[in-house]
Amino acid sequence: MLLTISTTHTPATDLGYLLHKNPGRAQRMTLAFGSAHVFYPEATAERCSAALLVEVDPVGLVRGRRGPEGDGGLLAQHVNDRPYAASSFLSVAITEAFGTALSGRSKERPDLAATAIPLEARLAVLPCRGGEGLLRRLFEPLGYAVVAEPQPLDATFADWGDSRYFTVTLSATVRVAELLAHLYVLVPVLDDEKHYWVGDDEVDKLLRHGGDWLATHPERELITRRYLKHRQSLVRDAIARLVTAEEPDVTTATTPSRDAEEAALERPMNLHDQRLATVLGVLRASGAASVVDLGCGEGKLLRLLLDDRQFTRITGMDVSYRALETAMDRLRFDRMPEMQRARITLLHGSLMYRDARLGGHDAAAVVEVIEHLDPPRLAAFERAVFAFARPGTVVVTTPNAEYNVRWPTLSAGRFRHRDHRFEWSRSEFEAWADRVAATHGYAVRFAPVGPVDDTVGAPTQMGIFTRTVAHG
Ligand code: SAH
Repeated sequence: MLLTISTTHTPATDLGYLLHKNPGRAQRMTLAFGSAHVFYPEATAERCSAALLVEVDPVGLVRGRRGPEGDGGLLAQHVNDRPYAASSFLSVAITEAFGTALSGRSKERPDLAATAIPLEARLAVLPCRGGEGLLRRLFEPLGYAVVAEPQPLDATFADWGDSRYFTVTLSATVRVAELLAHLYVLVPVLDDEKHYWVGDDEVDKLLRHGGDWLATHPERELITRRYLKHRQSLVRDAIARLVTAEEPDVTTATTPSRDAEEAALERPMNLHDQRLATVLGVLRASGAASVVDLGCGEGKLLRLLLDDRQFTRITGMDVSYRALETAMDRLRFDRMPEMQRARITLLHGSLMYRDARLGGHDAAAVVEVIEHLDPPRLAAFERAVFAFARPGTVVVTTPNAEYNVRWPTLSAGRFRHRDHRFEWSRSEFEAWADRVAATHGYAVRFAPVGPVDDTVGAPTQMGIFTRTVAHG
């Protein structure tokens, strides 16, 4: 199978720096299922093309075949299109051959890597289940001009009509990393097939490469469904995470961040700092040595935990990869002394999952996170935290909706943050927390955070859960 990427950005040979592959020499990489070659059919200052040729060894493929889908029948095993049709093999080859470019990095041309330039991708044979119509519905919303030449089924049986194979040219002014991510996700989607068993980590791959654009793509449901090979439970999780991740991510570039909006509202009393100080106090008093901060965001609580030697093992987890990157910057991960660095781990994950990495902590903090979860998904969160991870102490904070009438700038009926799915009164929160505690073998007590108003209470409410039963 063959993918050619060309640019007319001058000097066009900079494409070599962007792809981290020298136009001057051909390179070969060994893959689990064959090999990949990168070479440049043309490399002038005006136009440069890099070709990625992937050789799939169909016999080796059958021999090494494992997993639940290996029963395509003998004929299907030996006569198939995998060696030449662009498919999930191409996606793997893209990560192997152009992994640095896919992640948006370029040592020699960092500015250019961050710049949209005219690019053209040509796929010699692209199987499109759903035809040219779907091909267009997938790429055109991302800004591509699409040229599709249908391939007849077989030259000798031309009257059989066209096959589902197309030679496709996609042109757009985009960043190289974007083009590669679009191909990485959408080629297997068009093929509607995966050469490997789709496991849970496939959701992470989809979010890693689709996080920026998939949430707002009109075909996001179809893309997710096909990408995850129609595994319903994974599809549901992915959509939920996309919807959660989309809000802050897609708006940061154009509008002031929503977190900034919420922060501005709460600034007069610096409620955020008060909240974190209160949670820190509760964690200290619990005697915890290991703490996981669930939905750690940009890492403010992690900073406070790091500064206190009581906490020897600190884990931060968030569904937003971007938030974790910011946390790493703010905590100065790259310059952190070894001893400090050994105390902290950041995890990309979702509170919707039972995640073994969350186990084994003395305490968990869930600060201003639950109100970002869709109410039907709260049950999954409850199971992941209280049934599966089961820390000795769980501190949960959430806005007290009753207090909203006291915010001078918040109009009636509005939430404090546009991404909030709900805001609870004290009795609603307490009813939820009492039920969760009773179900999972915890005791819970409540405390206000921020100045307490006689009528409406404090702006933030906190539940402190203490495990009373070793196994739920
Ligand atoms: N605890 C932090 C951040 C609160 S904002 C603080 O108090 O400053 C809510 C955070 O929850 C965001 O960073 C968001 O990315 C994260 N989040 C939302 N849904 C999540 C999920 N399903 N799993 C993990 N984190 C999630």
